[in-house]
Amino acid sequence: MAGIISRQFLEPDIAVLVLDDPHKGANVLSRSVLDEFAAHLTELERRSDLAGLIVRSGKPGSFIAGADLREFATSFDVPRQSVVDLCRRGQELFARLSNGPFVTVAAIDGVCLGGGAELAAWCDRRVFSTGAKTHYGFPEVKIGLFPGWGGTVRMPRMVGLGNAVEMITSGETIDPRAALQLGLASDVVAADKLLQAALAVVRAEKESGDYLRDRQRWRQPVRISETELGFLGATASGYIQQQTGGHYPAPLAALEVLLGGASLNAEAALQLEAEGMAALYGTPVNRALINVFFLTDRNKKDTGIDHANVQAKPIRSVGVVGAGIMGAGIAAANLKRDLPVTINDSSAIALAKGVTGVLEDVAYNKQTKQPDPQRAIKYASLLNATSTDLELVACDLVVEAIIESPDLKRQLFARLEPQLRGDAILASNTSTIPISFLAQDLKRPDQFCGIHFFNPVRKMPLVEIIRGRQTSDQTVATAVAYAKSIGKSPIVVNDGPGFLVNRLLFPYMNEAIELLCDGVEMKQIERAAKEFGMPMGPFTLYDVVGLDTAVYAGRVLADAFPDQYPPSPLLPTMLKRGRLGQKTGVGFFQYKEAKGRGAPDPTLAEVCAPYVRGGPALSAQQVTQRLFLPMLLEATRVLQAGIVRDPRDVDLGLIFGLGFPPFKGGLLFWADTQGAAKVLQLLKPYESLGPRFAPTPLLSEMAKTKRNFYP
Ligand code: NAD
Repeated sequence: MAGIISRQFLEPDIAVLVLDDPHKGANVLSRSVLDEFAAHLTELERRSDLAGLIVRSGKPGSFIAGADLREFATSFDVPRQSVVDLCRRGQELFARLSNGPFVTVAAIDGVCLGGGAELAAWCDRRVFSTGAKTHYGFPEVKIGLFPGWGGTVRMPRMVGLGNAVEMITSGETIDPRAALQLGLASDVVAADKLLQAALAVVRAEKESGDYLRDRQRWRQPVRISETELGFLGATASGYIQQQTGGHYPAPLAALEVLLGGASLNAEAALQLEAEGMAALYGTPVNRALINVFFLTDRNKKDTGIDHANVQAKPIRSVGVVGAGIMGAGIAAANLKRDLPVTINDSSAIALAKGVTGVLEDVAYNKQTKQPDPQRAIKYASLLNATSTDLELVACDLVVEAIIESPDLKRQLFARLEPQLRGDAILASNTSTIPISFLAQDLKRPDQFCGIHFFNPVRKMPLVEIIRGRQTSDQTVATAVAYAKSIGKSPIVVNDGPGFLVNRLLFPYMNEAIELLCDGVEMKQIERAAKEFGMPMGPFTLYDVVGLDTAVYAGRVLADAFPDQYPPSPLLPTMLKRGRLGQKTGVGFFQYKEAKGRGAPDPTLAEVCAPYVRGGPALSAQQVTQRLFLPMLLEATRVLQAGIVRDPRDVDLGLIFGLGFPPFKGGLLFWADTQGAAKVLQLLKPYESLGPRFAPTPLLSEMAKTKRNFYP
């Protein structure tokens, strides 16, 4: 036996099963752990002298993180009936927690998710700790599934169908207070009182016998009228469709099983759940989303450097130079993680505006969706706005976010660097200027790197940590650890035009213009991108980013790769006409408000007319291929150039930095599902369009050797 679960006795008649996988930071329910759990139950069930069984974790702050997804990923191709059987076996195992000759209580301290939440749901009762990490929920829809070990059956019976629908179809977790309100928790106590609280629950239940009545009740259908059921179904499915845009089947499938199972007895509902799970398991969306889970998991563990003997330095204070869109966003992101920030700007007006922006950002309360003055007051005390360098240069890290001018940035660094502490790190938020170029005159180029945030900072999790030629491992490790400490997902990229994400964005944006010039309607191009799953179409993105910025970034990339991407004269013409996008009220669309939705602009056709060559009508599929194949080819060039340390960083970067559709699993993941040979075939019809559609050496070699991007 693996020895992950140990058996203890709190009192002679109270058994405790303690889960503690010595090889993992969190307990996960693998097949072997479930077998071990079953063996313990079998032994305990044989005893007639037990009053209670308490299940807990030996890891403070972490109960059970869920099922073992690596096992899932190795069995995607099993027949559907095997998935049904697998679910049924799990359900039958956990059901023993509500059939046995003793009261069962889950003592939950820390995360209790997915399969772990199901195990706890099958216990007669649950007690929660007040620990900050304690959360309970069913995130399965986020990997394209729903709970398949009885979660959709137990939850509606315990907390009501409406609450169960909300929890399971959203995949969001609840905190101990909410668990108490829902009746899911019998008690919420400090972590060190958890076992005693669980013991008290066992004794009280033994005394009252309530748990036996609940066992009986929860085997029956859910008590809900047909009218209520119909209303719940209609509102929930409408909401889910609006949220998922039809790209994510799991929440609707979960809803169907929850509603369908409500009018059945528990046993029949469990069968329905198992069959529903089997229909989702191994589908392309399920595989893609599990890949995103692995990408995220890998990213969390990645220190940014490939050997372990370099330690990140702690960052306890941050300076931000430039209080514009990005500087304000960066400052707010730091404050929200309680890191003190000193911010300055060469313009007093810009500084004042920036500080207002920072305070608005930090005051926003996500729960109430309202500004919260208490938050503003709390965080304002950590913000220091200054017009001098004095306090700025005392910081552990200074991030430059001034305008995108190589000369101004270098002048700033020349002034700041000599004033900084010897161990401080200096970083640039530049989107395009090579880091090694900016480092040329620095005395300590090893302590300089790019820390490239994405706009809007509060929404975009990605940060590119750019390693210049002379950036040290320690600087990279520190920048990575720092970005994680403020809740971001950093990837380390090597220096080069456009770094990673903008370099991959450019061919796609460029192709949108080419399509327009080929006579394809803007509406059709926007639709193709959105149907592919992008959060917005490329022309909307042009307007949001600003056409001035787009032209500037485009020039950097067009200069670097002149054969691939000869710049179109359309964008400079738009600029000359003042059509900069949202910021000037007109770009490809027209805007009533600075951040509002764009409306079609009747004067656009006349601006574009001189550049429209026209061409044959293209199908939706052809437009999609035209947009995304150049991005994929550029990704192969990025890999060849060694810009990323691992192909998976390309996918994570695109998903977290551009909103590339997670249900596709990532650009390279998607390409792997096609295979390199198929991609070459897809490229064939576009060969006449020039080098931007020519197969790259890497892709050709992969097709020949039948190799995938993913290891
Ligand atoms: P912005 O124009 O909104 O803000 C720049 C600020 O820098 C202005 O307030 C300006 O007064 C100030 N400034 C100029 N020179 C200065 C100096 N010498 N010292 C102090 N302050 C000075 O620009 P932004 O969009 O916030 O971009 C800032 C940087 O971030 C640029 O390098 C840009 O490429 C990069 N970036 C921008 C985005 C984006 O989407 N806007 C995304 C990622 C990175």
